Amino acid sequence: MENCIFCKIINQEIPSYKIYEDEDVYAFLDIGQATPGHTLLIPKTHVTDIFSYDHALAEKTFARLPKIARAIEAAFPEIEGLNIVNNNKELAYQTVFHSHVHLIPRYTKEDDFSMHFGNHIGQQTTEELTEMAEKIAKQVK
Ligand code: AMP
Ligand code: ZN
Repeated sequence: MENCIFCKIINQEIPSYKIYEDEDVYAFLDIGQATPGHTLLIPKTHVTDIFSYDHALAEKTFARLPKIARAIEAAFPEIEGLNIVNNNKELAYQTVFHSHVHLIPRYTKEDDFSMHFGNHIGQQTTEELTEMAEKIAKQVK
């Protein structure tokens, strides 16, 4: 897609630190390096975010994650963990609108990555949670 920075990287119109490429995906270093080895995996097909994947594209793209994760682990045996993050839409911190998955190696609790999961356990009734689950379940197609 024109004017998409990640499409330009795939087409080698702008440089990147390539890690892996096949007919479906491209993996390269994130220029921001939240932690050393921070990598992005992108589908070669331009899709904006998770809501735009069809089943086949999702299979092709997300199936590559373990391969890249294992490569990072082998390259940095000292890592203690790996966060896999996919931001969708601006409110959820997406800044590049060609869907991508972050693989962020974790070294220590003090490295430069963190995530906050609010914990609201006990704040909804069983009925409310059942209703919520059913509401989503009805939409699964
Ligand atoms: P997000 O905020 O989830 O949309 O992530 C976009 C990521 O793309 C950020 O972590 C940026 O550091 C990274 N990024 C932006 N431009 C480039 C580029 N030219 N090469 C590599 N990574 C990039
Ligand atoms: Zn694109």
